[in-house]
Amino acid sequence: MTARKVIIIGSGPAGYTAAIYAARANLAPLMISGFQYGGQLMLTTLVENYPGFVDGVMGPELMQIMRKQAERFGTEVVADDVTAVDFTRRPFHVSAGDTTYEGDTVIVATGASATLLGLPSETALMGRGVSTCATCDGFFFKDQDIMVVGGGDSAMEEALYLSRLGRSVTVVHRRDSLRASKIMQDRALKHPNITLVWDSEVEDILDPAQGKVTAVKLRNVKTGALAERAVDGLFIAIGHQPNTGIFRGQLDLLPSGYVKVVPGTTQTSVPGVFAAGDVQDQVWRQAVTAAGMGCVAALEAERYLEATQAR
Ligand code: NAP
Repeated sequence: MTARKVIIIGSGPAGYTAAIYAARANLAPLMISGFQYGGQLMLTTLVENYPGFVDGVMGPELMQIMRKQAERFGTEVVADDVTAVDFTRRPFHVSAGDTTYEGDTVIVATGASATLLGLPSETALMGRGVSTCATCDGFFFKDQDIMVVGGGDSAMEEALYLSRLGRSVTVVHRRDSLRASKIMQDRALKHPNITLVWDSEVEDILDPAQGKVTAVKLRNVKTGALAERAVDGLFIAIGHQPNTGIFRGQLDLLPSGYVKVVPGTTQTSVPGVFAAGDVQDQVWRQAVTAAGMGCVAALEAERYLEATQAR
């Protein structure tokens, strides 16, 4: 089998942008998109902060547009899940379905997944009042009552961001002390617009029948008491999991599981393998920042191929 110049693993904004750049540089990229292509934006509704769409664009539609754009320039898309990689030999080996593909370079863009509560009502109302990203969706809850779940830095950050938009912000945490850093705790606890509800878990989210969030049922884990609070939006901020299981032992990962890169680049611990988007970014996690990193990864892959005279 002839090695591909570029293999892209993953099909969110980082993967598609890498594909567009690599395809336009005549590198005929192969994208292994995963059975469920499109990444986290497939779970959202209206996206209003991706530049170029005055009236916003639905998340799945945006991913469809990116896919068409990548294919238009000759990206080949394979809808399989990657099951194994071998970055110890060149060309690199990437296995998906019954096939093992060979690539002179690989761009890892498998993203991260927000940890969820696991309630059926959460799935039903995702993008309809339930969100995992305050920067993305906070604006929809201007002057409304908002709830945030979680006790870590992410939850405090989301609550502080939302406090500038909402009428009220309630943070629900399952214990009686926060995991967040002292400085973030202080900011959130001192904020006049933020209220903490301790020792409580989300039992259910209402009301899937209406197709929007109207209230949240909370259970006090110490007393078992149930309470219902009327809210318009629920932000789940209980952590993220980078999708890096298949890269363990192949690439250096951070203790948090994210791919380790040379700061300011997409270069991983293996020359010729690049990582872009949420799989290497635990700070910004935006579609547009992921897309920017996808661009950088494709340009770095192109430079690498030129330098190693593999093209
Ligand atoms: P995290 O530190 O792992 O905190 C997750 C929080 O969610 C914990 O309080 C945890 O409760 C709670 N939780 C987990 N599963 C839950 C469930 N099923 N139901 C209810 N609550 C649940 O995650 P993170 O806040 O996303 O932060 C990740 C890393 O990024 C951390 O190292 C953090 O410091 C860093 N970060 C830093 C900043 C900043 O400095 N500005 C901002 C964001 C993130 P327990 O406490 O009971 O386990």
